[in-house]
Amino acid sequence: MQLTKKYYLTTPIYYTNGLPHIGHTYSTIVCDAIRRYKRMLGYDVILTTGTDEHGINVERSAQKAGIPESEFVAKMAAEWKALWDELGLQGDEFIRTTEVRHARTVQWLFKLCRENGYIYPGHYTGQYCIYDNAYVDVKPGEPCPECGRPTETVTEDNYFFKLSAFQNVLLDFYKKNPDFIQPEARRNEVVAQPDVAPAAESK
Ligand SMILES: [Zn+2]
Repeated sequence: MQLTKKYYLTTPIYYTNGLPHIGHTYSTIVCDAIRRYKRMLGYDVILTTGTDEHGINVERSAQKAGIPESEFVAKMAAEWKALWDELGLQGDEFIRTTEVRHARTVQWLFKLCRENGYIYPGHYTGQYCIYDNAYVDVKPGEPCPECGRPTETVTEDNYFFKLSAFQNVLLDFYKKNPDFIQPEARRNEVVAQPDVAPAAESK
């Protein structure tokens, strides 16, 4: 049989601040099942999974464990990979965000976006949940509405992606391709909030 139709899917890339739990395992099992099913249908499938080894909570976990960050994330990545192997879950690529191939690809994409005017410097202040790695809409001192843990006031100078430049094109595309984002509830969320990233003030 000739494999011509391509199908790509990915699990989330998992944070290496802790070990896998049943929620991560569920996501990976679902992706593995889709991969097997699509293969049976004759698709040329690539499933990627991997570990996100950057972020303040990863750094703090390494400090807590008393070992250098690079050593800590290597140990954690090996644990994650070993669990998927043990459960017979088959990814085609296991990507660590500290790998040179990952850094090169990010640099290529960032450069391309920047050269085309889609990256701009700005700063943002908000309440940040380090456990969820997300800004949350609460006042200083209030806990995270997702997990109930304390939030921190974070001000950062950063580079932002100009998602607004694609707003109309994307909304038009979702309208013409109503099945593109599934399930419907998630599509409605995306359509209702096309710009979910924190709004940055331009300098
Ligand atoms: Zn939280």
